[in-house]
Amino acid sequence: MTPEKPLFDRLALIGTGLIGSSIARAARAQGVVRSIVATARTETTRRRVAELGIADEVAANNPTAAEGADLIIVSIPVGDCGAVAREIGGRLKPGAIVSDVGSVKGSVVRDMAPHIPNGVHFVPAHPVAGTEYSGPDAGFAELFVDRWCILTPPQGTSPAAVERLDAFWRALGAKVEIMTPEHHDLVLAVTSHLPHLIAYTIVGTADELAQVSRSEVLQFSAGGFRDFTRIAASDPTMWRDVFLANKDAVLEMLGRFNEDIATLTRAIRRGDGAALFDHFTRTRAIRKGIVAVGQDSPAPDFGRQHPVLPAADER
Ligand code: NAP
Repeated sequence: MTPEKPLFDRLALIGTGLIGSSIARAARAQGVVRSIVATARTETTRRRVAELGIADEVAANNPTAAEGADLIIVSIPVGDCGAVAREIGGRLKPGAIVSDVGSVKGSVVRDMAPHIPNGVHFVPAHPVAGTEYSGPDAGFAELFVDRWCILTPPQGTSPAAVERLDAFWRALGAKVEIMTPEHHDLVLAVTSHLPHLIAYTIVGTADELAQVSRSEVLQFSAGGFRDFTRIAASDPTMWRDVFLANKDAVLEMLGRFNEDIATLTRAIRRGDGAALFDHFTRTRAIRKGIVAVGQDSPAPDFGRQHPVLPAADER
């Protein structure tokens, strides 16, 4: 997995939260870059990055970090990517590669591309890996291992630049796929953005129930609900930006979802057990497929590896 010599001399990380700090840790662990310069929006985060020692240098601002770097990865909420590209555009070295990690690609390409000068390559990326935690302490070097990283190079991007970024992500342990920004946004709307919206909704619904107290919700939170609370704990800024940036694809998927939930609602109201059974059988097969391709563990309740059974007299 580790390349014989570094793939890039100087990596600049703009944004050093969960994703940026994981890239720093993984790039250093794999020896894929000679040096890392990192920055963040606030002095508090920059100081913490320096304390953690995950970068060789911490720059005071974005243009200083970008200057002289061979690979610049913008790892910040998608709503800020355009403004940051404008800030750093004039300081980029000819031949450098600019990339990002945003969960939405159409808006990032639209907002960043106009600020990338000729002679600098722009290869947007989305590592489909994460947790519900944020900030530089949350990152870890293994985050991208066996996860997909989707590259969405605009038409006309240098194939050599795409190959170099592909090699970088593979060295970090990821599997790489290339698609258009539009297709990426449609796929992720159904596999990631809609599930987050459902989680945010259901946890809010449970919280507002008048007949069931909040302590009962917490006490009896069964597997399904517990998983939703984990997803609904994800960063509010990041997810606000995702829904604003991927509005069209999310609304399209939400329309389909509402139709399907109306069908299931009708089946329950009419006591149509066969319709429910058929639907649940189909979805069970999808889960088996996800486990079969290694995208999740077949363990019964992921995250609670060693449940302790109560003694017989305590049950
Ligand atoms: P995070 O942990 O909240 O970190 C965000 C970082 O961006 C912080 O270091 C923040 O600095 C910095 N930042 C924000 N605005 C900035 C600006 N204008 N200039 C410089 N730095 C700025 O977020 P994250 O989870 O790493 O997410 C970053 C990106 O990765 C998002 O676009 C998200 O869509 C994408 N992504 C996230 C996940 C996930 O599961 N979390 C998975 C895949 C992709 P301060 O701390 O100083 O504010």
